[in-house]
Amino acid sequence: TGISPFQNEAFVDFSQPENKKAMEDALTKVRATLGKDIPLHIGGEKITTEDRIVSINPGNTDEVIASVSKASKELAEKAMQTALTAFESWKRVPAAERAGYLFRAAELMRERKHEFSAMMIFEAGKNWPEAEADTAEAIDFMEYYAREMIRLSETNEHKPLTKVPGEDNKLSYIPLGVGVVIPPWNFPLAICVGMATAAIVSGNTVLLKPASVTPAIAHMFVELMEEIGLPTGVLNFIPGSGAEVGDYLTTHPKTRFISFTGSKEVGLRINRLAAETAPGQIWIKRIVAEMGGKDGIVVDETADLEAAASAIVASAFGFQGQKCSAGSRAFIVESVYDEVVELVAEKTKALRIGVQEENFPIGPVSDKNAYEKILEYIEIGKGEGRLIAGGGKAEGNGFYIQPTVFADVDGKARIMQEEIFGPVLALGKAKDYKEAIALYNDTEFGLTGAFFSKEEDRIAYALEDMHCGNLYINRKCTGALVGAHPFGGFNMSGTDSKAGGHDYLLLFTQAKMTARKI
Ligand code: GLU
Repeated sequence: TGISPFQNEAFVDFSQPENKKAMEDALTKVRATLGKDIPLHIGGEKITTEDRIVSINPGNTDEVIASVSKASKELAEKAMQTALTAFESWKRVPAAERAGYLFRAAELMRERKHEFSAMMIFEAGKNWPEAEADTAEAIDFMEYYAREMIRLSETNEHKPLTKVPGEDNKLSYIPLGVGVVIPPWNFPLAICVGMATAAIVSGNTVLLKPASVTPAIAHMFVELMEEIGLPTGVLNFIPGSGAEVGDYLTTHPKTRFISFTGSKEVGLRINRLAAETAPGQIWIKRIVAEMGGKDGIVVDETADLEAAASAIVASAFGFQGQKCSAGSRAFIVESVYDEVVELVAEKTKALRIGVQEENFPIGPVSDKNAYEKILEYIEIGKGEGRLIAGGGKAEGNGFYIQPTVFADVDGKARIMQEEIFGPVLALGKAKDYKEAIALYNDTEFGLTGAFFSKEEDRIAYALEDMHCGNLYINRKCTGALVGAHPFGGFNMSGTDSKAGGHDYLLLFTQAKMTARKI
């Protein structure tokens, strides 16, 4: 149909002076917009409320990013009614036309990509390449899901039916209804855009409750969708508290599905609340949940130790370890243990900490709650392992924490088992690669993992035995690419909904079989 095959957005190289200049200009431009009021978007209406979420720069807490109106239950109900009405027409818009909106949005976002990245540098505390990767992934999700919807609606490629003589039979994927989309703050553009546009392109209408730490970047996306002319009521923006608006919509009889990415605790709560049938509810709500991780890297004695240590450090400390894919643990075979520990300590100590506007490798953590919780875990770690790098707060007018590494940590230790979601890495020793893999598998989570070795039979063993949704060999365990590495995990990591994969849109549809006698 004249649409080029999907390709990942190329990453911008900021060592090129013109690229650096473009980002600096975008930072200046976006800084001038900071501090403004952001309204709710319900249908075509912009609604301002008294009650606010104040978004601040975590790397400079004096800087206000935006003052965001907060939805009440009444406004959440109004948004639900609006989305229900919009669904009646949106579901009839042909799939290719729905996809067209995503193609246009991707194009416009690509034109302004540095502005989106700049907003994340200010609001989320991402450094330049992390912010750039986030924006690139958001573009990828739209390009990918648009093509996926066309494939699902126009081809029979992955849904061939057995032919019956005298009958014309067909399977089509129709939308579900109104979905509540609750994205996380750590990929505040990519995952927000991916979750919302997957639901939208599949023909559903959406109530988007952005993460309270990063509402301004989510709002930039909502404005973009408005600009490209997405029909009103298809995407509604309702910032608010989880306890109030989140619970209200989760238990609402007209909510058809909830798409959530965030902590295990909140995911399980949503799953539990959504399992109750409200009076008047005529379906089982569908839950798509991507939750936490306690991911790790296993290194055997044949591995390229330099590469393994670099991957451990990149996986543990990229975006301050605030990824559910973060490699917060590593298990190393004893004959090379001391050498790897030494390399990891050295590489960690070399990471410089500072404001993200100036593109320091390590920036702040997301907010005060996270800051306090992570510092508490560092204290716990001091009783559970040998501190070899970092160990506490860092200088700066924000939530800065030193990248911290503990060695000689037991597999059952709290810092080996509990998701910290910050720059804290635990290293453990194993007698051989099989023991190291068993230690790796000893977790309630199962999101990402990596194995470093040069031995084919061991790699084969790891491929089969490391139990996680995204397993990497001889590379870091973060940085999944749309289309190439469908992303989602096992067990308490969620419903294994593979974002950026061929199965993802099916989660937002229901299959309708029709057979016609001919
Ligand atoms: N997809 C991201 C990665 O592979 C992680 C997403 C997340 O942290 O939720 O690094």
